[in-house]
Amino acid sequence: MGYRMAALCSCGYGNKEVIVGSGRSGEYYYYPFYCKKCNILFSAASFECPKCQQKDVISYSDNKMYEGDNLADKGGKELIGRKFLCPSCGRYDLEFFILGF
Ligand SMILES: [Zn+2]
Ligand SMILES: [Zn+2]
Repeated sequence: MGYRMAALCSCGYGNKEVIVGSGRSGEYYYYPFYCKKCNILFSAASFECPKCQQKDVISYSDNKMYEGDNLADKGGKELIGRKFLCPSCGRYDLEFFILGF
């Protein structure tokens, strides 16, 4: 099972096409990643930026990407109710919201 989420920051940066969890096929596990080079948040099933194709990207489950205690794996729901690093303004002010399933 997966979620369709939006990632929004107070600076105005946002991505409303974030897939988290397994897709319809169930073969792949999607998660949000951060590409330092492109300054974007994207969701993918592998460590590869869809824009620049480089593999030096960071998963949003990495503790560099949020403040506070370590995330527990809750199938994607661990992203809710926390502040994450915004790829655009560089502050920990980005939040995830569930849009649908
Ligand atoms: Zn990139
Ligand atoms: Zn921001």
